[in-house]
Order: sequence, then C-alpha cells, then structure tokens
Amino acid sequence: MTARIIDGKQVAEGLRTRLAARIATLPFRPGLRVVRVGDDPASGVYVRNKDRAAAAAGFDSATLHLPPTATEAELLAVIAELNADPAVDGILVQLPLPPQIRAEAAIAAVDPAKDVDGFHPLNAGRLAAGQPGLVPCTPKGVMHLLREAGARLRGARALVLGRSQIVGRPMAQLLLGADCTVTIAHSRTRDLAAECRRAEILVAAVGRPEMVRGDWVGEGAIVIDVGINRTAEGKLVGDVAFAEAASRAAAITPVPGGVGPMTIACLLENTLDAALARRQG
Ligand code: NAP
Repeated sequence: MTARIIDGKQVAEGLRTRLAARIATLPFRPGLRVVRVGDDPASGVYVRNKDRAAAAAGFDSATLHLPPTATEAELLAVIAELNADPAVDGILVQLPLPPQIRAEAAIAAVDPAKDVDGFHPLNAGRLAAGQPGLVPCTPKGVMHLLREAGARLRGARALVLGRSQIVGRPMAQLLLGADCTVTIAHSRTRDLAAECRRAEILVAAVGRPEMVRGDWVGEGAIVIDVGINRTAEGKLVGDVAFAEAASRAAAITPVPGGVGPMTIACLLENTLDAALARRQG
C-alpha cells in the first residue's frame, strides 16, 4: 500500500479562507493579542506568522512584546488589561517564557473566555468533561485533518503517542469525544511498537526524530505526525519515519506541511469562536 499524503497546507488554507469569508460578514473584527516575553528566536518566527495569518484573514491582530527581564507581576498586569479590554477576543501567551515567570501562572491568568490556546485549566477540564470550550489548537487541527482524510472515527482504535498537556492529552480527549477507542502511550509504555501496530489511527506527538518505524504502523492505518524535530544536518523531520510508514499506511501527514500549518489556522478559528461566544453572552 502507498499512503495518500494528507496536505495540511491546503486544508489550513481552506480553513483560513472560510474564516475570512465569515469575518467579512461581521460588523466587527475579532481581536487577537499575542503576548511575547523575551527574544526566543523560534518564538519570533511563530509570532510573526500568527500576526500575518490573522491580519490576512481580517482579524484585528497585534503582538505585545515585553523585555526578557519582565517580571511575572508585569506579565500578569498586561494579561489583566487584555482580559478587561472589550475589543480583545483572544489572548495567547507565547511559550516558552523566561525562567523568572511561571508558565502555569500566566496560563491561569488568562480569562477562560479569551483563552484561544485552550490551555487554561478550566478549558482543559471542560474538554475532559465532554463540555464545550476552547480546545488546544494543534489537536483541533489534527481532528480537521482526520475528517479531511475521510477517517471513520466511530469505534476506531486510536493510539496517541505522547501525553503532554498541549498535545497528547487533549488529542486523546478529542478522539474519545469522536467515539474512538483511545489508548494513550508514553515513555513508560511497554512494547510500544505492538501498541502502535494495533492502531487504526496513530497520532505521534513525542518529539523524537523518526522514532515510529514502518513496522510499527498497521496496514491501512491513518498516521498523523505532530512531531517537529531538527536533525543534526538541519533537516526538519517528524516523529514518524515517513517513507517506511507511507508504504504501510492508508494516509499520512508529511513534516513539514502536515499538522504544522493547521495550528495557526485553528488559533484563528478559536479566536472567531471566542468572539462570537462572548458577544452572544
Ligand atoms: P512533550 O511535552 O515533550 O511530550 C512528549 C511526550 O512524548 C511525553 O508524554 C513523553 O512521555 C512522550 N515520550 C517521549 N519520549 C518517548 C519515548 N521514547 N517513548 C514513548 N513516549 C515518549 O512534547 P509536546 O509538546 O507534546 O510535543 C511533541 C512534539 O510535537 C514535538 O516534536 C513538538 O515540537 C511537536 N509539536 C508540534 C506542534 C505543531 O504545531 N505541529 C505543536 C506542538 C508540538 P512521558 O510523559 O512519559 O515523559
């Protein structure tokens, strides 16, 4: 079997176009504020990409940039202002933060109604309880890709490799919400290869270059590779050995060009959802 390549760039572009069309009909522009602290170079690239995509889709988007010496109290004061600003619908605190600031404190300070990253404990709790709320962007993007790939989710055996707060756990909750039978694997899982092989839907989010080999993939599985890893040679690779896996899977996402582009598109989707929900009270 040779896998169909799931084109995340194209799916993300389609989603951004649909969002722009909806925004064009609104009497207001949804407001997104990204808060960046310090000069982490990768964060600079992400923040610029977010701003650009948001502006192109018609959002009122801006980045607030605090110096690397900013204190936790200073960051919390900025977040409080954004919480109180009626023109702001979505707030995103770009991670990582400098060591003097606790990420949990910053995340918990964001108004859950404006928490477009979906990281606030209240939104994580809502997701776990099966209630509506703002959902983390990367797992939400994976769900779009699975639907796009025509995955039959109800009753399917899904394996999520990784249990982080931002990807693995919310991913498992979303798959469960879509009636998959979900297994969560992690660094303590016994016989990982066999667990993976049983999966009809395999989502890898470990951050280990090409760890998932071809013979870990069941024939006809749908493979979603969330990993973004840079090799010693400077090449970008996923958590899945792409060519090997593609010879067994029915469909697979590439890296780059798979899950990555979906994350920003889903951030914009969350911002529009938050804007509409706040105005409907
Ligand atoms: P993370 O917080 O480091 O979590 C990694 C998870 O993988 C942990 O649950 C860990 O298990 C598990 N793990 C690590 N080594 C393992 C091994 N040898 N065997 C089995 N499980 C193992 O990472 P993350 O933030 O979830 O990100 C994962 C990957 O996705 C990274 O490559 C990251 O760059 C990428 N990512 C991409 C996007 C995107 O937009 N496409 C967004 C976010 C993240 P334990 O819990 O037992 O330690």
